[in-house]
Amino acid sequence: MQTQSMERMESNVRTYSRSFPVVFTKAKNARLTDEDGREYIDFLAGAGTLNYGHNNDHIKQAMIDYLATDGVIHGLDMWTAAKRDYLETLEELILKPRGLDYKVHLPGPTGTNAVEAAIRLARVVKGRHNIVTFTNGFHGVTMGALATTGNRKFREATGGIPTQGASFLPYDGYLGENTDTLDYFEKLLGDKSGGLDVPAGVIVETVQGEGGINVAGLEWLKRLEKICHANDILLIVDDIQTGCGRTGKFFSFEHAGIKPDIVTNSKSLSGLGLPFAHVLMRPELDKWKPGQYNGTFRGFNLAMVTATAAMRKYWSNDTFARDVQRKGRIVEERFQKLAALLSENGMPATERGRGLMRGIDVVDGDLADKITAKAFEHGLIIETSGQAGEVVKCLCPLTITDEDLLEGLDILEASVKTVISQ
Ligand SMILES: *Cc1c(COP(=O)(O)O)cnc(C)c1O
Repeated sequence: MQTQSMERMESNVRTYSRSFPVVFTKAKNARLTDEDGREYIDFLAGAGTLNYGHNNDHIKQAMIDYLATDGVIHGLDMWTAAKRDYLETLEELILKPRGLDYKVHLPGPTGTNAVEAAIRLARVVKGRHNIVTFTNGFHGVTMGALATTGNRKFREATGGIPTQGASFLPYDGYLGENTDTLDYFEKLLGDKSGGLDVPAGVIVETVQGEGGINVAGLEWLKRLEKICHANDILLIVDDIQTGCGRTGKFFSFEHAGIKPDIVTNSKSLSGLGLPFAHVLMRPELDKWKPGQYNGTFRGFNLAMVTATAAMRKYWSNDTFARDVQRKGRIVEERFQKLAALLSENGMPATERGRGLMRGIDVVDGDLADKITAKAFEHGLIIETSGQAGEVVKCLCPLTITDEDLLEGLDILEASVKTVISQ
């Protein structure tokens, strides 16, 4: 496989091509094919961007049909029939059945665009600058969003310009199982010399994806909502990776029965891997003046067409969500066994996750890398996350067939066993 031109031309900043140094040509559902015709099972799936699989037939067809009729691809944020369909479908299939009445802001098409817009809205509405975020949180890498991202590697890449406007508090479980970290938040809010600038909003992932599949307890999330309400602080759930069914419900916060003031979605929102993001907000928070926040690529029509097709295909009833939960239990069980196997062999490991967002924490980043490298040799694409890359994570397409899911898990098991025996 010829890779010289890419190695020569592409910036050092490239990442995933280092872990998976082959040239891919085709992809279908949970399988990728390289130039030599070798197939791989994909447990990375665009870091949660391909919840409905690669080249989902139903969603792809909607795109092809739209292209064939010369549908508007780009129209800044002008009204199009594609936008109307998208908003009406979102309202009818997603928001109304869940008792949500959000308004929709279409910012630029990436996750970090949505986070920038969400935290700025919170500031505009409350007239306060501070945003509370949590240890190991990941919310994107543009300056505003980066201020709420914990990862030191990204924070050090600003060239020394300090990020501003966010305060980090300990996420659920950060101080061990027996400490409710919200005690600290509540105490700070009530302490006039505690040093915390009263925040406009709190931004949180219900399961931290890049941060290592750290799962916030449902009671913790409920209490966080209560604290926000009691203190006139907006609750922003960053559902960019956890949304669109990843945890077994469309929105990850549904498990906790909470209603955030602001929600961000991106990654799998378009359903086909097209760039697309939105911010949802309680209607009374919509304090934007016309054009006060803009962007050339607001509301990519093609992505709205595919997002609409995805909602109609998978979210008109709860069949899909139940199937995700079922597959999640399969992964959970197998990951628990692998964690036990590692632990028995002197490598302490634990399993965690929600729905089909699951990980095995092997404590040691090098060990995790050995396992994922072995897996790749055997035809499984799987990545790590966490502060030291110590968590082997499964983000397979939610539409993966049981056969591919089991084959992927078998490859992972064989890889773990090989690494143990070395
Ligand atoms: C990926 C991600 C982002 C950033 O999205 P980009 O499209 O990479 O800018 C923000 N928040 C969470 C939780 C994410 O997983």
